[in-house]
Amino acid sequence: MIPLSLHEIAAVVGGTVEGDGAVTVTAPAVLDGRRAEPGGLFVAFAGEHTDGHDHAGQAGLTGAVAVLGSRPTALPTVVVEDAQAAVQALAAHVTARLRDGLTVVGLTGSQGKTGTKDLLAAMLSSTAATTATHGSLNNELGVPLTMLRADPATRYLVLEMGARHIGDIAALTGLVAPDIAVVLNVGQAHLGEFGSRAAIARTKGELVRGLAPGGTAVLNADDPRVVAMRSFTDGPVLTFGRAEHADVRVLDLTLDRLGRPFFTLRTAAAAAAVALPLVGAHQALNASAAATAALAAGVPLDVSAAALATAALSKWRMEPRELANGTTLLNDSYNANPDSTRATLDALDALAVTEGGRRIAVLGEMRELGDESEAQHRAIGEYASSRADVVAAVGEAARPIADAAATRPGTLVLTLADNAAAVDWLRDHLTAADVVLVKASRSAHLDEVAAALP
Ligand code: ATP
Ligand code: MG
Repeated sequence: MIPLSLHEIAAVVGGTVEGDGAVTVTAPAVLDGRRAEPGGLFVAFAGEHTDGHDHAGQAGLTGAVAVLGSRPTALPTVVVEDAQAAVQALAAHVTARLRDGLTVVGLTGSQGKTGTKDLLAAMLSSTAATTATHGSLNNELGVPLTMLRADPATRYLVLEMGARHIGDIAALTGLVAPDIAVVLNVGQAHLGEFGSRAAIARTKGELVRGLAPGGTAVLNADDPRVVAMRSFTDGPVLTFGRAEHADVRVLDLTLDRLGRPFFTLRTAAAAAAVALPLVGAHQALNASAAATAALAAGVPLDVSAAALATAALSKWRMEPRELANGTTLLNDSYNANPDSTRATLDALDALAVTEGGRRIAVLGEMRELGDESEAQHRAIGEYASSRADVVAAVGEAARPIADAAATRPGTLVLTLADNAAAVDWLRDHLTAADVVLVKASRSAHLDEVAAALP
Protein backbone atom coordinates (compact mmCIF):
# COMPACT_ATOMS: atom_id res chain seq x y z
CA MET A 1 0.00 0.00 0.00
CA ILE A 2 1.21 3.52 -0.64
CA PRO A 3 0.33 5.94 2.16
CA LEU A 4 -2.90 7.82 1.41
CA SER A 5 -4.94 10.17 3.56
CA LEU A 6 -8.69 9.71 3.79
CA HIS A 7 -9.10 12.98 1.89
CA GLU A 8 -7.04 11.51 -0.97
CA ILE A 9 -8.92 8.20 -0.86
CA ALA A 10 -12.27 10.00 -0.89
CA ALA A 11 -11.18 12.03 -3.92
CA VAL A 12 -10.13 8.86 -5.78
CA VAL A 13 -13.29 6.88 -5.05
CA GLY A 14 -15.79 9.74 -5.12
CA GLY A 15 -16.76 9.43 -1.46
CA THR A 16 -17.14 11.71 1.54
CA VAL A 17 -15.08 11.60 4.73
CA GLU A 18 -16.78 11.16 8.09
CA GLY A 19 -14.30 11.90 10.86
CA ASP A 20 -10.67 12.95 10.59
CA GLY A 21 -9.75 13.16 6.91
CA ALA A 22 -6.09 13.70 7.71
CA VAL A 23 -5.81 10.12 8.98
CA THR A 24 -3.41 8.27 6.69
CA VAL A 25 -3.73 4.65 5.63
CA THR A 26 -0.32 2.99 5.43
CA ALA A 27 -1.13 -0.75 5.36
CA PRO A 28 -3.25 -2.96 3.08
CA ALA A 29 -7.04 -3.14 2.96
CA VAL A 30 -8.85 -6.12 4.49
CA LEU A 31 -12.43 -7.42 4.47
CA ASP A 32 -12.06 -9.16 7.81
CA GLY A 33 -11.50 -6.65 10.61
CA ARG A 34 -9.74 -9.29 12.69
CA ARG A 35 -7.02 -9.42 10.03
CA ALA A 36 -6.34 -5.69 9.91
CA GLU A 37 -2.70 -4.62 10.08
CA PRO A 38 -1.57 -1.54 11.99
CA GLY A 39 -2.35 1.45 9.77
CA GLY A 40 -4.67 -0.58 7.56
CA LEU A 41 -8.03 0.07 5.94
CA PHE A 42 -11.08 -2.02 6.83
CA VAL A 43 -13.54 -2.41 3.97
CA ALA A 44 -17.01 -2.85 5.43
CA PHE A 45 -19.89 -4.55 3.66
CA ALA A 46 -23.40 -5.05 4.91
CA GLY A 47 -23.82 -8.82 4.59
CA GLU A 48 -26.92 -10.96 4.98
CA HIS A 49 -26.03 -12.05 8.49
CA THR A 50 -23.61 -9.49 9.84
CA ASP A 51 -22.94 -5.88 8.99
CA GLY A 52 -19.23 -5.14 8.73
CA HIS A 53 -19.82 -1.53 9.70
CA ASP A 54 -20.72 -2.71 13.20
CA HIS A 55 -17.27 -4.30 13.55
CA ALA A 56 -15.24 -1.16 12.82
CA GLY A 57 -14.37 -0.75 16.50
CA GLN A 58 -13.01 -4.31 16.61
CA ALA A 59 -11.02 -3.68 13.41
CA GLY A 60 -9.62 -0.57 15.09
CA LEU A 61 -8.39 -2.62 18.04
CA THR A 62 -6.60 -4.93 15.62
CA GLY A 63 -4.89 -1.99 13.91
CA ALA A 64 -7.19 -0.53 11.24
CA VAL A 65 -7.10 3.27 11.23
CA ALA A 66 -9.99 3.85 8.85
CA VAL A 67 -13.01 2.30 7.15
CA LEU A 68 -14.25 2.28 3.58
CA GLY A 69 -17.97 1.61 3.71
CA SER A 70 -21.46 2.76 2.92
CA ARG A 71 -22.18 4.55 6.22
CA PRO A 72 -20.24 6.23 9.05
CA THR A 73 -18.65 3.91 11.62
CA ALA A 74 -16.74 4.02 14.90
CA LEU A 75 -13.54 4.81 12.93
CA PRO A 76 -12.85 7.63 10.46
CA THR A 77 -14.74 6.48 7.37
CA VAL A 78 -14.77 7.14 3.66
CA VAL A 79 -18.45 6.78 2.82
CA VAL A 80 -19.34 5.59 -0.67
CA GLU A 81 -22.42 4.13 -2.35
CA ASP A 82 -20.67 1.01 -3.59
CA ALA A 83 -17.71 -0.21 -1.52
CA GLN A 84 -16.73 -2.84 -4.08
CA ALA A 85 -16.49 -0.28 -6.88
CA ALA A 86 -14.53 1.97 -4.50
CA VAL A 87 -11.99 -0.76 -3.71
CA GLN A 88 -11.55 -1.33 -7.43
CA ALA A 89 -11.08 2.38 -8.13
CA LEU A 90 -8.60 2.72 -5.30
CA ALA A 91 -6.63 -0.32 -6.50
CA ALA A 92 -6.49 1.04 -10.04
CA HIS A 93 -5.28 4.39 -8.72
CA VAL A 94 -2.59 2.96 -6.45
CA THR A 95 -1.29 0.57 -9.10
CA ALA A 96 -1.20 3.35 -11.69
CA ARG A 97 1.01 5.38 -9.35
CA LEU A 98 3.38 2.42 -8.90
CA ARG A 99 3.17 1.33 -12.51
CA ASP A 100 6.61 2.49 -13.72
CA GLY A 101 8.60 0.24 -11.43
CA LEU A 102 6.23 -2.69 -11.64
CA THR A 103 5.87 -5.75 -13.88
CA VAL A 104 2.28 -7.00 -13.64
CA VAL A 105 1.47 -10.63 -14.44
CA GLY A 106 -2.14 -11.75 -14.93
CA LEU A 107 -2.78 -15.48 -14.84
CA THR A 108 -5.94 -17.36 -15.78
CA GLY A 109 -7.12 -20.78 -16.89
CA SER A 110 -9.72 -23.34 -15.91
CA GLN A 111 -7.39 -25.19 -13.59
CA GLY A 112 -3.95 -24.83 -12.12
CA LYS A 113 -4.08 -21.06 -11.58
CA THR A 114 -3.21 -21.14 -7.90
CA GLY A 115 -0.57 -23.83 -8.28
CA THR A 116 1.08 -21.98 -11.16
CA LYS A 117 0.77 -18.63 -9.42
CA ASP A 118 2.54 -20.04 -6.36
CA LEU A 119 5.36 -21.44 -8.51
CA LEU A 120 5.72 -18.15 -10.38
CA ALA A 121 5.72 -16.14 -7.15
CA ALA A 122 8.48 -18.41 -5.82
CA MET A 123 10.55 -17.80 -8.96
CA LEU A 124 10.07 -14.04 -9.06
CA SER A 125 10.52 -13.48 -5.33
CA SER A 126 13.88 -15.25 -5.53
CA THR A 127 15.06 -12.24 -7.56
CA ALA A 128 13.02 -9.19 -6.38
CA ALA A 129 10.17 -8.04 -4.14
CA THR A 130 6.99 -9.76 -5.28
CA THR A 131 3.35 -9.32 -4.30
CA ALA A 132 1.08 -12.19 -5.32
CA THR A 133 -2.50 -13.29 -4.76
CA HIS A 134 -3.00 -15.01 -1.43
CA GLY A 135 -4.62 -18.41 -1.92
CA SER A 136 -7.30 -18.17 -4.59
CA LEU A 137 -8.50 -14.59 -4.04
CA ASN A 138 -9.00 -14.16 -7.76
CA ASN A 139 -12.30 -12.33 -8.23
CA GLU A 140 -13.59 -8.76 -8.51
CA LEU A 141 -12.63 -8.10 -4.87
CA GLY A 142 -9.66 -10.43 -4.44
CA VAL A 143 -7.75 -8.93 -7.37
CA PRO A 144 -8.03 -5.29 -6.26
CA LEU A 145 -7.24 -6.26 -2.65
CA THR A 146 -4.08 -7.96 -3.93
CA MET A 147 -3.20 -4.89 -6.00
CA LEU A 148 -3.53 -2.76 -2.85
CA ARG A 149 -0.86 -4.89 -1.14
CA ALA A 150 1.77 -3.64 -3.61
CA ASP A 151 4.06 -0.89 -2.33
CA PRO A 152 6.87 1.19 -3.85
CA ALA A 153 9.37 -1.63 -3.21
CA THR A 154 7.28 -4.16 -5.18
CA ARG A 155 8.83 -5.13 -8.53
CA TYR A 156 6.49 -7.97 -9.53
CA LEU A 157 2.74 -8.10 -9.02
CA VAL A 158 1.26 -11.53 -9.75
CA LEU A 159 -2.53 -11.62 -10.05
CA GLU A 160 -4.55 -14.84 -10.26
CA MET A 161 -7.67 -13.98 -12.24
CA GLY A 162 -10.77 -16.14 -12.09
CA ALA A 163 -13.96 -15.86 -14.11
CA ARG A 164 -17.51 -17.06 -13.89
CA HIS A 165 -19.00 -14.92 -16.64
CA ILE A 166 -18.03 -13.39 -19.95
CA GLY A 167 -16.50 -9.99 -19.21
CA ASP A 168 -15.14 -10.88 -15.76
CA ILE A 169 -11.51 -10.95 -16.88
CA ALA A 170 -11.92 -7.83 -19.00
CA ALA A 171 -13.17 -6.04 -15.89
CA LEU A 172 -10.03 -7.13 -14.03
CA THR A 173 -7.61 -6.07 -16.80
CA GLY A 174 -9.51 -2.78 -16.78
CA LEU A 175 -8.09 -2.19 -13.29
CA VAL A 176 -4.53 -2.80 -14.46
CA ALA A 177 -3.43 -3.94 -17.90
CA PRO A 178 -0.92 -6.77 -17.35
CA ASP A 179 2.55 -6.76 -18.91
CA ILE A 180 2.41 -10.54 -19.06
CA ALA A 181 -0.77 -12.56 -19.62
CA VAL A 182 -0.61 -16.28 -18.83
CA VAL A 183 -3.42 -18.55 -20.06
CA LEU A 184 -3.12 -22.13 -18.81
CA ASN A 185 -6.02 -24.01 -20.35
CA VAL A 186 -9.63 -23.84 -21.39
CA GLY A 187 -11.46 -26.57 -19.54
CA GLN A 188 -14.88 -27.07 -18.13
CA ALA A 189 -14.70 -25.26 -14.80
CA HIS A 190 -17.93 -23.30 -14.25
CA LEU A 191 -19.39 -24.74 -17.46
CA GLY A 192 -22.79 -24.34 -15.83
CA GLU A 193 -22.50 -20.56 -15.69
CA PHE A 194 -20.74 -20.09 -19.00
CA GLY A 195 -22.95 -22.38 -21.07
CA SER A 196 -20.24 -23.52 -23.49
CA ARG A 197 -16.54 -24.10 -23.77
CA ALA A 198 -16.37 -21.47 -26.52
CA ALA A 199 -17.69 -18.93 -24.03
CA ILE A 200 -15.05 -20.03 -21.54
CA ALA A 201 -12.35 -19.59 -24.20
CA ARG A 202 -13.68 -16.13 -25.03
CA THR A 203 -13.48 -15.12 -21.38
CA LYS A 204 -9.94 -16.42 -20.85
CA GLY A 205 -8.98 -14.64 -24.08
CA GLU A 206 -9.97 -11.35 -22.48
CA LEU A 207 -6.69 -11.53 -20.55
CA VAL A 208 -4.66 -11.52 -23.77
CA ARG A 209 -6.81 -8.76 -25.28
CA GLY A 210 -6.29 -6.78 -22.08
CA LEU A 211 -2.47 -6.79 -22.26
CA ALA A 212 -0.63 -3.51 -21.85
CA PRO A 213 0.86 -2.26 -25.18
CA GLY A 214 3.86 -4.44 -26.04
CA GLY A 215 2.98 -6.93 -23.29
CA THR A 216 3.77 -10.62 -23.68
CA ALA A 217 1.18 -13.39 -23.99
CA VAL A 218 2.26 -16.69 -22.39
CA LEU A 219 0.17 -19.46 -23.89
CA ASN A 220 -0.20 -23.23 -23.51
CA ALA A 221 1.10 -24.83 -26.72
CA ASP A 222 -0.75 -28.05 -25.91
CA ASP A 223 -4.22 -26.51 -25.76
CA PRO A 224 -5.57 -25.49 -29.18
CA ARG A 225 -8.11 -23.13 -27.63
CA VAL A 226 -5.30 -21.31 -25.86
CA VAL A 227 -2.86 -21.22 -28.79
CA ALA A 228 -5.64 -19.65 -30.84
CA MET A 229 -5.45 -16.62 -28.54
CA ARG A 230 -2.25 -15.63 -30.35
CA SER A 231 -4.40 -13.67 -32.73
CA PHE A 232 -5.69 -11.47 -29.88
CA THR A 233 -2.38 -9.60 -29.57
CA ASP A 234 0.15 -7.81 -31.77
CA GLY A 235 2.79 -8.18 -29.06
CA PRO A 236 5.24 -10.99 -28.38
CA VAL A 237 3.95 -14.49 -27.64
CA LEU A 238 5.79 -17.23 -25.74
CA THR A 239 4.40 -20.77 -25.54
CA PHE A 240 4.98 -23.61 -23.10
CA GLY A 241 4.15 -27.28 -22.97
CA ARG A 242 5.12 -30.67 -24.31
CA ALA A 243 4.54 -29.71 -27.95
CA GLU A 244 7.69 -29.75 -30.06
CA HIS A 245 7.32 -26.14 -31.13
CA ALA A 246 6.78 -24.76 -27.61
CA ASP A 247 9.22 -21.99 -26.66
CA VAL A 248 9.64 -23.53 -23.22
CA ARG A 249 9.35 -27.25 -23.61
CA VAL A 250 8.73 -30.00 -21.09
CA LEU A 251 10.92 -32.96 -22.03
CA ASP A 252 11.69 -36.40 -20.59
CA LEU A 253 8.83 -36.28 -18.10
CA THR A 254 8.76 -39.16 -15.61
CA LEU A 255 7.08 -39.61 -12.23
CA ASP A 256 8.56 -41.12 -9.10
CA ARG A 257 6.81 -43.57 -6.76
CA LEU A 258 4.65 -40.84 -5.24
CA GLY A 259 3.86 -39.30 -8.60
CA ARG A 260 6.30 -36.42 -8.32
CA PRO A 261 7.49 -35.25 -11.74
CA PHE A 262 11.06 -35.21 -13.00
CA PHE A 263 11.61 -33.40 -16.29
CA THR A 264 13.73 -31.04 -18.34
CA LEU A 265 12.71 -27.52 -19.27
CA ARG A 266 14.28 -26.45 -22.53
CA THR A 267 14.36 -23.19 -24.44
CA ALA A 268 16.32 -22.41 -27.60
CA ALA A 269 19.05 -20.97 -25.37
CA ALA A 270 19.08 -23.10 -22.21
CA ALA A 271 17.96 -26.29 -20.49
CA ALA A 272 17.38 -27.12 -16.83
CA ALA A 273 16.65 -30.40 -15.07
CA VAL A 274 13.81 -30.16 -12.55
CA ALA A 275 12.72 -32.41 -9.68
CA LEU A 276 9.43 -30.97 -8.51
CA PRO A 277 8.29 -31.77 -4.96
CA LEU A 278 4.61 -31.74 -6.03
CA VAL A 279 2.40 -34.62 -7.13
CA GLY A 280 1.07 -35.10 -10.66
CA ALA A 281 2.25 -34.71 -14.25
CA HIS A 282 0.12 -31.58 -14.62
CA GLN A 283 2.45 -29.85 -12.16
CA ALA A 284 5.22 -30.11 -14.76
CA LEU A 285 2.96 -28.20 -17.15
CA ASN A 286 2.23 -25.59 -14.53
CA ALA A 287 5.95 -25.30 -13.80
CA SER A 288 6.67 -24.71 -17.48
CA ALA A 289 3.96 -22.03 -17.59
CA ALA A 290 5.48 -20.31 -14.57
CA ALA A 291 9.02 -20.54 -15.95
CA THR A 292 7.83 -19.04 -19.24
CA ALA A 293 6.12 -16.12 -17.48
CA ALA A 294 9.28 -15.62 -15.41
CA LEU A 295 11.34 -15.63 -18.60
CA ALA A 296 9.06 -12.95 -20.03
CA ALA A 297 9.72 -10.97 -16.84
CA GLY A 298 13.46 -11.27 -17.38
CA VAL A 299 14.21 -14.13 -14.98
CA PRO A 300 16.52 -16.73 -16.54
CA LEU A 301 15.52 -20.38 -16.76
CA ASP A 302 18.15 -21.66 -14.32
CA VAL A 303 16.94 -19.25 -11.61
CA SER A 304 13.36 -20.43 -12.09
CA ALA A 305 14.40 -24.07 -12.07
CA ALA A 306 16.23 -23.54 -8.77
CA ALA A 307 13.07 -22.02 -7.25
CA LEU A 308 11.02 -25.04 -8.38
CA ALA A 309 13.20 -27.41 -6.38
CA THR A 310 11.92 -25.91 -3.12
CA ALA A 311 8.30 -25.35 -4.16
CA ALA A 312 5.94 -25.73 -1.23
CA LEU A 313 2.78 -27.79 -1.29
CA SER A 314 -0.54 -26.02 -0.96
CA LYS A 315 -3.01 -27.40 1.51
CA TRP A 316 -5.30 -30.19 0.31
CA ARG A 317 -3.89 -30.14 -3.22
CA MET A 318 -2.46 -33.59 -3.84
CA GLU A 319 -1.11 -33.52 -0.34
CA PRO A 320 0.58 -36.89 0.26
CA ARG A 321 0.42 -38.48 3.70
CA GLU A 322 1.33 -41.90 5.02
CA LEU A 323 -1.41 -43.26 7.28
CA ALA A 324 -0.62 -45.13 10.49
CA ASN A 325 -1.05 -48.50 8.77
CA GLY A 326 1.25 -47.53 5.89
CA THR A 327 -1.38 -46.60 3.29
CA THR A 328 -0.47 -43.66 1.04
CA LEU A 329 -3.19 -40.97 1.08
CA LEU A 330 -3.36 -38.27 -1.58
CA ASN A 331 -5.59 -35.52 -0.25
CA ASP A 332 -6.90 -33.39 -3.13
CA SER A 333 -10.08 -32.26 -1.42
CA TYR A 334 -9.48 -28.58 -2.10
CA ASN A 335 -11.69 -28.50 -5.17
CA ALA A 336 -12.78 -30.50 -8.21
CA ASN A 337 -14.18 -30.25 -11.69
CA PRO A 338 -14.11 -32.84 -14.50
CA ASP A 339 -10.73 -31.78 -15.91
CA SER A 340 -8.92 -31.54 -12.59
CA THR A 341 -10.46 -34.84 -11.52
CA ARG A 342 -9.19 -36.53 -14.68
CA ALA A 343 -5.74 -35.02 -14.05
CA THR A 344 -5.64 -36.35 -10.50
CA LEU A 345 -6.92 -39.77 -11.63
CA ASP A 346 -4.08 -39.82 -14.15
CA ALA A 347 -1.70 -39.02 -11.31
CA LEU A 348 -3.18 -41.90 -9.29
CA ASP A 349 -2.84 -44.22 -12.26
CA ALA A 350 0.80 -43.19 -12.75
CA LEU A 351 1.78 -44.12 -9.21
CA ALA A 352 3.82 -47.25 -8.70
CA VAL A 353 1.77 -49.48 -6.40
CA THR A 354 3.45 -52.41 -4.70
CA GLU A 355 2.31 -56.03 -4.98
CA GLY A 356 -1.25 -56.48 -3.74
CA GLY A 357 -1.85 -52.74 -3.43
CA ARG A 358 -4.89 -51.07 -4.94
CA ARG A 359 -5.45 -47.62 -6.42
CA ILE A 360 -8.53 -46.37 -4.59
CA ALA A 361 -10.37 -43.28 -5.84
CA VAL A 362 -12.71 -41.74 -3.28
CA LEU A 363 -14.73 -39.20 -5.26
CA GLY A 364 -17.41 -36.78 -4.14
CA GLU A 365 -19.59 -34.30 -5.94
CA MET A 366 -18.19 -31.87 -8.49
CA ARG A 367 -20.35 -28.76 -8.05
CA GLU A 368 -21.37 -26.00 -10.46
CA LEU A 369 -21.78 -28.18 -13.54
CA GLY A 370 -25.33 -27.08 -14.27
CA ASP A 371 -27.41 -29.29 -16.57
CA GLU A 372 -24.29 -31.25 -17.45
CA SER A 373 -23.84 -32.46 -13.90
CA GLU A 374 -25.15 -35.99 -14.13
CA ALA A 375 -23.49 -36.71 -17.49
CA GLN A 376 -20.18 -35.30 -16.24
CA HIS A 377 -20.30 -37.43 -13.10
CA ARG A 378 -21.05 -40.49 -15.23
CA ALA A 379 -18.12 -39.69 -17.51
CA ILE A 380 -15.84 -39.39 -14.50
CA GLY A 381 -17.12 -42.75 -13.27
CA GLU A 382 -16.12 -44.36 -16.54
CA TYR A 383 -12.75 -42.64 -16.49
CA ALA A 384 -12.09 -43.55 -12.87
CA SER A 385 -12.81 -47.21 -13.52
CA SER A 386 -10.04 -47.22 -16.12
CA ARG A 387 -7.56 -45.61 -13.71
CA ALA A 388 -8.41 -47.04 -10.28
CA ASP A 389 -9.00 -50.53 -8.84
CA VAL A 390 -11.59 -49.25 -6.39
CA VAL A 391 -13.99 -46.39 -7.13
CA ALA A 392 -15.93 -45.07 -4.14
CA ALA A 393 -18.59 -42.42 -4.80
CA VAL A 394 -19.46 -40.39 -1.72
CA GLY A 395 -22.85 -38.69 -1.38
CA GLU A 396 -26.04 -38.70 -3.43
CA ALA A 397 -24.83 -36.32 -6.15
CA ALA A 398 -21.80 -38.52 -6.80
CA ARG A 399 -23.92 -41.67 -7.31
CA PRO A 400 -23.72 -41.47 -11.15
CA ILE A 401 -19.94 -41.92 -10.77
CA ALA A 402 -20.55 -45.30 -9.17
CA ASP A 403 -23.31 -46.22 -11.65
CA ALA A 404 -21.00 -45.65 -14.61
CA ALA A 405 -17.94 -47.20 -12.97
CA ALA A 406 -19.94 -50.35 -12.22
CA THR A 407 -20.34 -51.10 -15.93
CA ARG A 408 -16.65 -51.99 -16.12
CA PRO A 409 -15.87 -55.47 -14.88
CA GLY A 410 -12.91 -55.81 -12.52
CA THR A 411 -13.40 -52.52 -10.71
CA LEU A 412 -14.72 -52.65 -7.17
CA VAL A 413 -17.38 -49.95 -7.00
CA LEU A 414 -18.83 -48.52 -3.81
CA THR A 415 -21.71 -46.14 -3.25
CA LEU A 416 -21.16 -44.49 0.13
CA ALA A 417 -23.95 -42.39 1.60
CA ASP A 418 -21.81 -39.73 3.21
CA ASN A 419 -18.38 -38.83 4.57
CA ALA A 420 -18.90 -40.92 7.71
CA ALA A 421 -19.65 -44.00 5.61
CA ALA A 422 -16.50 -43.32 3.57
CA VAL A 423 -14.37 -43.11 6.71
CA ASP A 424 -15.90 -46.36 8.03
CA TRP A 425 -15.20 -48.25 4.83
CA LEU A 426 -11.65 -46.95 4.52
CA ARG A 427 -10.85 -47.69 8.17
CA ASP A 428 -11.99 -51.27 7.73
CA HIS A 429 -10.45 -52.07 4.36
CA LEU A 430 -7.19 -50.19 3.75
CA THR A 431 -3.90 -52.07 3.61
CA ALA A 432 -0.33 -50.76 3.73
CA ALA A 433 0.12 -51.28 -0.01
CA ASP A 434 -2.96 -49.25 -1.02
CA VAL A 435 -2.90 -45.73 -2.41
CA VAL A 436 -6.01 -43.62 -1.81
CA LEU A 437 -6.99 -40.46 -3.68
CA VAL A 438 -9.63 -38.24 -2.07
CA LYS A 439 -11.17 -35.64 -4.37
CA ALA A 440 -14.34 -33.53 -4.62
CA SER A 441 -15.51 -29.96 -4.76
CA ARG A 442 -14.59 -27.93 -1.72
CA SER A 443 -18.16 -27.86 -0.46
CA ALA A 444 -18.29 -31.66 -0.24
CA HIS A 445 -15.78 -31.41 2.65
CA LEU A 446 -13.92 -34.59 1.77
CA ASP A 447 -11.02 -33.10 3.72
CA GLU A 448 -12.93 -34.39 6.76
CA VAL A 449 -12.57 -37.91 5.41
CA ALA A 450 -8.84 -37.43 4.95
CA ALA A 451 -8.50 -35.93 8.42
CA ALA A 452 -10.51 -38.73 10.08
CA LEU A 453 -8.12 -41.43 8.91
CA PRO A 454 -5.44 -42.18 11.52
P1 ATP B 1 -9.77 -22.21 -8.66
O1 ATP B 1 -10.57 -21.80 -9.86
O2 ATP B 1 -10.55 -23.03 -7.67
O3 ATP B 1 -9.03 -21.07 -8.02
P2 ATP B 1 -7.25 -23.00 -9.80
O4 ATP B 1 -7.33 -22.73 -11.26
O5 ATP B 1 -6.55 -22.01 -8.96
O6 ATP B 1 -8.69 -23.28 -9.22
P3 ATP B 1 -5.54 -25.02 -8.59
O7 ATP B 1 -6.11 -24.71 -7.26
O8 ATP B 1 -4.15 -24.65 -8.86
O9 ATP B 1 -6.51 -24.41 -9.70
O10 ATP B 1 -5.75 -26.55 -8.91
C1 ATP B 1 -7.04 -27.10 -8.79
C2 ATP B 1 -7.06 -28.54 -9.20
O11 ATP B 1 -6.71 -28.69 -10.56
C3 ATP B 1 -6.15 -29.41 -8.41
O12 ATP B 1 -6.94 -30.49 -8.01
C4 ATP B 1 -5.06 -29.87 -9.34
O13 ATP B 1 -4.75 -31.20 -9.09
C5 ATP B 1 -5.71 -29.70 -10.71
N1 ATP B 1 -4.78 -29.14 -11.71
C6 ATP B 1 -3.78 -28.29 -11.45
N2 ATP B 1 -3.13 -27.95 -12.58
C7 ATP B 1 -3.76 -28.58 -13.59
C8 ATP B 1 -3.57 -28.64 -15.01
N3 ATP B 1 -2.58 -27.95 -15.60
N4 ATP B 1 -4.42 -29.42 -15.72
C9 ATP B 1 -5.40 -30.10 -15.12
N5 ATP B 1 -5.62 -30.11 -13.80
C10 ATP B 1 -4.83 -29.36 -13.03
MG1 MG C 1 -7.20 -20.83 -7.47
